Amino acid sequence: MTPEEKARELAFRLKKLYPDSACSLEWKEPWQLMIMGRLSAQCTDARVNIVCRDLFREMPTLSDVADCDVHRLEEIIRPCGLYRKKAENVKEACRMLRDDYGGVLPDTMEELLKLAGVGRKVANLLLGDVYNVPGIVADTHCIKIGGRFGFYPEETDNPVKVEKILSALIPEDMQTETCHRFVDFGRDICSSPTPKCDKCPEMLRELCDHYLHKSAEKTRKDGEKS
Ligand code: SF4
Repeated sequence: MTPEEKARELAFRLKKLYPDSACSLEWKEPWQLMIMGRLSAQCTDARVNIVCRDLFREMPTLSDVADCDVHRLEEIIRPCGLYRKKAENVKEACRMLRDDYGGVLPDTMEELLKLAGVGRKVANLLLGDVYNVPGIVADTHCIKIGGRFGFYPEETDNPVKVEKILSALIPEDMQTETCHRFVDFGRDICSSPTPKCDKCPEMLRELCDHYLHKSAEKTRKDGEKS
């Protein structure tokens, strides 16, 4: 099986396991997803959802956030961690979005990266979920799982490299949904640092380099003992 065939097969098999995977951040307006994407760095989506319920109740419009007292913003988003930098970025990104883009989220990677605190991971999330533009959201689940399936060495931790490799392998029309499935699969089974291989469906195990290496190693050790 070529890497392209394997990536396609993986995307289809994950679709069987998680037919309804979607972004777990609860947003209504694109600017809200932009904020939530920034807040999710080193924080869980569940916590971001809780914090943002309060945030969007108190600051229901883009301008409310752009013009807010940054100390009040810091206070609200504090549970997400790194709150000083995140508050500064969020306020400035909202100001830029309102003043430089007329309140409309840009639909290109180049323009999105100009927004304060928006990196490639969040930009790909926004492009995929707001505009249906294919892209790989190279978060920790995606990076880990791609390595375990052998698309690059397992120790790889460079998100830009992972994005480049997987975007060339996973069919474009399945990239966004597959990344959401990586998150579900990573949370449930193929977790970090220790995957629950005993709970993994056979249809995925048989494609998994990590599992095949582990099984081969066990067979070798058993052979040495006997
Ligand atoms: S066999 Fe283990 S490492 Fe491989 S995909 Fe399943 S859970 Fe992940």
